[in-house]
Amino acid sequence: MRIEHTPASCERSRFKIVCEDCGSLSIKVADPLNSPLSTQVRCGRCGAIRGTLAELQSLAVDGRDTFEF
Ligand SMILES: [Zn+2]
Repeated sequence: MRIEHTPASCERSRFKIVCEDCGSLSIKVADPLNSPLSTQVRCGRCGAIRGTLAELQSLAVDGRDTFEF
């Protein structure tokens, strides 16, 4: 049996820190403070869906990745 080594951040959240389409780190949320957690967060560069606000917040709680709006 072989244990695969994967980044912890990928296991804990489905949120894409790096865009799968263009490789950009930037994200875009219209109004993060007044939007429901189900709001989709999009890539700031190409507009691809990266995840939801809830998933983004679960990353922030982790304390390793901080996003500022
Ligand atoms: Zn992108």
